[in-house]
Amino acid sequence: MSTSENRKLKGLVAAGHAGKDDDNRLQEEMDSSMDRYRTILEEMDCGYYEVDAKGKLSFINDAAARLNGYTREEMVGMSYKEYVPQQYWESTFESYARVFSTGVPLRNCPMVRLKKDGSLIYHEDFVFPVRNGKGEITGLRGIARDVTLQKLAEAALLDEKRFSEALIDSLPGIFYLIDEEGAFVRYNSNASEVVGYSPEEGKKIRAMDVIAEEDRAYIAEKLSEIFNQGSGDAEVRLLAKDGRRIPYHITAKRVSLGGRNYLLGTGVDISQRVEAERARDESEKNYRLLAENTKDIVTIVDKNFNLVWLSASGEKLTGYSFEEQKKMPLNKKIMPDSVKRTKALLIRALQEEQEGTHDPARHYDIEIELCRNDGSTIWTENQMQFTRDGNGRATAMLIQGRDISERKQAEQALKESLEELRRSNEELEQFAYVASHDLQEPLRMVSSYVQLLEKRYKDRLDSDALDFMNYAVSGARRMQNLINDLLAYSRVGTRGKPFAPVDASEVLYAALSNLEVAIHEAEAVIEHGDLPVVFGDEGQLIQVFQNIIVNAIKFHGHQPPYVRVDAVPDDGDWLFSIRDNGIGIDPQFFERIFLVFQRLNGSGYAGTGIGLSVARKIIQRHGGRIWLESQPGQGSTFYFTLPMREEGELSK
Ligand code: ADP
Repeated sequence: MSTSENRKLKGLVAAGHAGKDDDNRLQEEMDSSMDRYRTILEEMDCGYYEVDAKGKLSFINDAAARLNGYTREEMVGMSYKEYVPQQYWESTFESYARVFSTGVPLRNCPMVRLKKDGSLIYHEDFVFPVRNGKGEITGLRGIARDVTLQKLAEAALLDEKRFSEALIDSLPGIFYLIDEEGAFVRYNSNASEVVGYSPEEGKKIRAMDVIAEEDRAYIAEKLSEIFNQGSGDAEVRLLAKDGRRIPYHITAKRVSLGGRNYLLGTGVDISQRVEAERARDESEKNYRLLAENTKDIVTIVDKNFNLVWLSASGEKLTGYSFEEQKKMPLNKKIMPDSVKRTKALLIRALQEEQEGTHDPARHYDIEIELCRNDGSTIWTENQMQFTRDGNGRATAMLIQGRDISERKQAEQALKESLEELRRSNEELEQFAYVASHDLQEPLRMVSSYVQLLEKRYKDRLDSDALDFMNYAVSGARRMQNLINDLLAYSRVGTRGKPFAPVDASEVLYAALSNLEVAIHEAEAVIEHGDLPVVFGDEGQLIQVFQNIIVNAIKFHGHQPPYVRVDAVPDDGDWLFSIRDNGIGIDPQFFERIFLVFQRLNGSGYAGTGIGLSVARKIIQRHGGRIWLESQPGQGSTFYFTLPMREEGELSK
């Protein structure tokens, strides 16, 4: 300490106490007291400084100078502006000025100092006035306490707090801390958003206020359980301010803070899961209702064919209860043939499933004949499908069956009558063939003997007898024609040849060559377009063309006959048309003319009325149809179809 400072200190301490008389003693006492104070100030670990009225440091102890990173010599005489950062000049000045003007000391006055190395330190100073002998304030003195470490710790704590607050607020769900009375101590912004209370309102409400009334008793119990056990979780409906209920899964953990127990926890919104579960329950209920009330038989069997579930209709239709059916072996429940097919199908389905070749959306169709408890059976038409777990793995087989007994009976009856029809047709054809074939011989005898009679006894018979003879001869001839035609008709089915590819234009030319005389006599003109190769019995197809074209020539009008033959593809068939310019046919007879021995134009025209019947029979044998379009006086067009065949199908 410099001499002038010593003097000053002496002055400070002595002010108002010294008397003039005992100067020496006083001087001594003062010196020793000054020494004591100086030593205290020097040695004091606490910073001490004095500032004069101009704001300059007039004294500073070693500890204070050290704090600032200076030596005492460097600091004495410094203005506060040199060791206080600029942003604190004003606040520093204000604090000093206040003590200076009022004389009231400032305790714990926060001060910031700029150290020599440019870093900052924080003080909390006790600032009090320096007075002269008259009690006037001449300066300030301060005792500095370094609180830098404390400040840094506070700042770190603040950072930590901000970090945890940010963390809590950024949590996806809700976060809360409640005390044992259920009052909210902390919660994150999500929590207040979910329930819709402002932070102000949040201070007033308690945990139970945000729990739906119907869950409160259960949650209260749960909370006390968690307070006891340390942790737990629960599903609860949160009650928002607007009355909405939001399903949440809440976790809670007991924590002890400052000697008190709290519950700390988080919560996640499970609305979607709860809604999905509700929808699933609802749909399961609907499906069960459907399955229980459907007329279809719904059965679930496991991979070993054990019955797992059966609809009420399955019990009703068979007369066996579910429990009975569970115990019955498969061959008591379904007919042997059905057992075989069902097992084979199930095994195939399981195999495909294992190999991964089965399309999960596909179902297998099978008809099963079920046994009933009265000994009768019912036919069912079934769809089999795997039921699957969440991973898509097959767990069981669902079989949905429909009673088709009536349809089965009708099908069986139809099959039987078709068989019967086929048999009687065959018999009839056989009969017609045999009859016409066997009648030919006696008929030939009748006509040849009548002709012989005519030849030998012509001269001895009168004209009446001759007429009778002529009638008998022509009758026998007509009968012969009829029998020939009948024979031809019955031969279509019984004497047909196997089908082969045939060029339809060749068929047409063959027919025309057979009709050469008739064409020539009637001066008929026959034309045709492109004709395809078809698949059939050539001889019979020639007959079809011949029978239709002969009519077109025979039933001509005033004009010489004109016939046009064409063929066009038509939806998998060849559609043939044979058009003429003849007398035409009234539509009311369209069906009749295809029947055996049906004729419209009687005696004026030759014929037996069998040509079109034979044509129709041949076309039907080829899998085609025949019909016509016509109006009287406007010509006729006969149509028939023959199926087109792919090359690969020729061998059929
Ligand atoms: P048919 O020619 O021997 O009388 P079809 O069975 O061939 O026997 O014909 C049955 C009847 O249909 C014929 O008698 C005739 O009345 C009528 N008909 C058939 N084709 C024609 C045609 N192109 N124009 C007018 N009438 C026809």
